[in-house]
Amino acid sequence: MDHRLSPELEELRRTVEEFAHDVVAPKIGDFYERHEFPYEIVREMGRMGLFGLPFPEEYGGMGGDYLALGIALEELARVDSSVAITLEAGVSLGAMPLHLFGTEEQKREWLPRLCAGEMLGAFGLTEPDGGSDAGATRTTARLDPETDEWVINGSKCFITNSGTDITGLVTVTAVTGRKPDGRPQISAIIVPSGTPGFTVAAPYSKVGWNASDTRELSFADVRVPAANLVGEEGRGYAQFLRILDEGRIAIAALATGLAQGCVDESVKYAKERHAFGRPIGANQAIQFKIADMEMKAHTARLAWRDAASRLVAGEPFKKEAALAKLYSSTVAVDNARDATQIHGGYGFMNEYPVARMWRDSKILEIGEGTSEVQRMLIARELGLVS
Ligand SMILES: Cc1cc2nc3c(=O)[nH]c(=O)nc-3n(C[C@H](O)[C@H](O)[C@H](O)COP(=O)(O)OP(=O)(O)OC[C@H]3O[C@@H](n4cnc5c(N)ncnc54)[C@H](O)[C@@H]3O)c2cc1C
Repeated sequence: MDHRLSPELEELRRTVEEFAHDVVAPKIGDFYERHEFPYEIVREMGRMGLFGLPFPEEYGGMGGDYLALGIALEELARVDSSVAITLEAGVSLGAMPLHLFGTEEQKREWLPRLCAGEMLGAFGLTEPDGGSDAGATRTTARLDPETDEWVINGSKCFITNSGTDITGLVTVTAVTGRKPDGRPQISAIIVPSGTPGFTVAAPYSKVGWNASDTRELSFADVRVPAANLVGEEGRGYAQFLRILDEGRIAIAALATGLAQGCVDESVKYAKERHAFGRPIGANQAIQFKIADMEMKAHTARLAWRDAASRLVAGEPFKKEAALAKLYSSTVAVDNARDATQIHGGYGFMNEYPVARMWRDSKILEIGEGTSEVQRMLIARELGLVS
């Protein structure tokens, strides 16, 4: 399999690389320090078409695919992960469920604004009592036959992009009945922002991703039309497994970008910083550390591009997506730790990008399936779990 980029993808990569350096890098540190959502940067990303990358042109998308999305995420995360996760969650979690499983009306109503980045969508799966065991959803939705509306009750936690000024909807998973064997039947339902009874809490105080929006949501007798069901009733569990499989490739691309950003910053710093009368990069201990960091970023890139190529070709990609997510998030944490070490005391100062990368790396081993969950998926694909 050839993982070199086509001329079109290379052009996209270069465009996003320039944007990340010229527009994101000079501004994002201040947004991060203030824990503020970077509306002006997100608006610009929308104008560039990044939120529409993998969607068809008829719905306002760019007609690309997951490879194109991964390229953009990697280049953004080389500079900053808050803007990268805003794009990842907006596309993979906000818009993709509607594109893959929505009705024609739902696509026409929501996708053009989501693709333009004028509106953000969110995906509410995780609940306070459990994220990895997503089948244990407690939020319920009951169809009221008199009004033909879903009545939703429950809560969700850690939901990305769910409380910005431009958030338009959250697709939530809820128990809508029981299967004959007593197991819950889970469905996905669109809840537009501002629906009465739908409360969005204040942003969390987080270790990292501080310029990205993450909130707790609660639903108290929230009523939405029956037509807001996404896909078939009871298919919500299968749908979100598919969404998460794809999302893992996007997170792997993002993690690769962070790992590469650590190399970029370390090479620069190792040449500039002098100790004992010469650049610290003249020491083989530093050279070897950076060489290992580059090896890890390169291998992570091959892993996510392999998974993305399989997805785009319509081939099975579950195991490769889990491998890519597990590997890239592990090396992102490794590289962030090593880059901080290479920067010495300055690496602990927030004005240096590697300090932000260190804080932003840990969540990559947790979000969209923890490293343990990736190992469970890989073991299952290897036939080790019955
Ligand atoms: C900043 C941020 C943004 C997020 N954005 C979203 C979002 O947009 N939408 C959304 O739905 N969710 C979102 N999440 C939630 C995220 O996906 C979950 O936190 C994650 O899936 C883990 O779930 P949990 O936190 O409930 O941990 P738990 O499931 O409680 O797990 C706790 C620990 O136990 C381990 N564990 C659990 N079961 C097993 C097992 N069987 N074997 C071995 N180890 C096990 C886990 O790996 C983990 O280490 C976000 C989280 C964060 C922090």
